[in-house]
Amino acid sequence: MNLIKFIENFPDELSCRSRFKAVRDQEGVICRKCGSRDHYWLSTVEQYQCKICKARTTLRSGTVMQGSKLPLRHWFIAIHLLTSTKKGFSSLELQKQIGHKFYEPIWYMVQKLRKTMGLRDGKYQLDKIVELDEGFFESVDTEKTAEEKQKESKKRGRGSQKQSTVMVMASTVYDFQTKKKQKKPTKFRYVKMKVMENMKGETVGQTVKENICYSSVVKTDHYASYNKIKETVWTYIPTKVPPKEASKVLPWVHTMIANAKRTLLGVHHMISKKYMQDYLDEFCYKVNRRNFGDNLFDRLLISCVAINYKNINVCR
Ligand SMILES: [Zn+2]
Repeated sequence: MNLIKFIENFPDELSCRSRFKAVRDQEGVICRKCGSRDHYWLSTVEQYQCKICKARTTLRSGTVMQGSKLPLRHWFIAIHLLTSTKKGFSSLELQKQIGHKFYEPIWYMVQKLRKTMGLRDGKYQLDKIVELDEGFFESVDTEKTAEEKQKESKKRGRGSQKQSTVMVMASTVYDFQTKKKQKKPTKFRYVKMKVMENMKGETVGQTVKENICYSSVVKTDHYASYNKIKETVWTYIPTKVPPKEASKVLPWVHTMIANAKRTLLGVHHMISKKYMQDYLDEFCYKVNRRNFGDNLFDRLLISCVAINYKNINVCR
């Protein structure tokens, strides 16, 4: 959907409300009191009423938009811009474009949309051949005191206080139609990025267990704490390589790390450590749905309505 079409489809608050209601009707409203799915629509008060216990549910209640005072059209514009632009959008830019007086509510709105994207992707696990490596993303720690920061700056090693350590996993398949010119022997499928508290064996093993199907083949560049991986997946292939050649063994993971860094740096001035996961979730959500085209708007809107009560785990 381009901008012209968006304006045609959603010229005002009413058009957004009626689309939002259509999506809610389609996904089904669940009564928070008795769990019933049978409701009347009370058009005079614009609320659903449970046929069993008579409890009422507002149009936004139980969705990501619950509690937000912003017009639905603001949400629709944000969803449109987040899904139709390749690189993404900063909340500051969005605030300017919408012409809203305050930054905070716009930031919260976009942040909730990022969370929705993360929750949606969290329903899937990666499978096939999964490349795995860690990347270091520039971020600021807004939570720490000056003293803590000074203490940490003395420490050296993998990752520093100005970086978030991120485990990057890329699902690929062998490409049997590879042309000779093509450098990578595999085809990229899906990506996941997880901010890591630490790189201890236990933590790495747990992250792999949560994000990669047991039936997968996992390839890494052999880092000691990766050894736990062999307990959680079918085949584990660590290949010891000098850092310069790592991109030959794990080509897609390195492409993804580079793309994510470029995208985040290009759009956002500075990312707080606390929210790094949400920005990565947005990046991964869009990469994983790169072929959805116009449907992406609807998909994200449906997720905003449905995310609370659909918990299906699917391998991908
Ligand atoms: Zn009820």
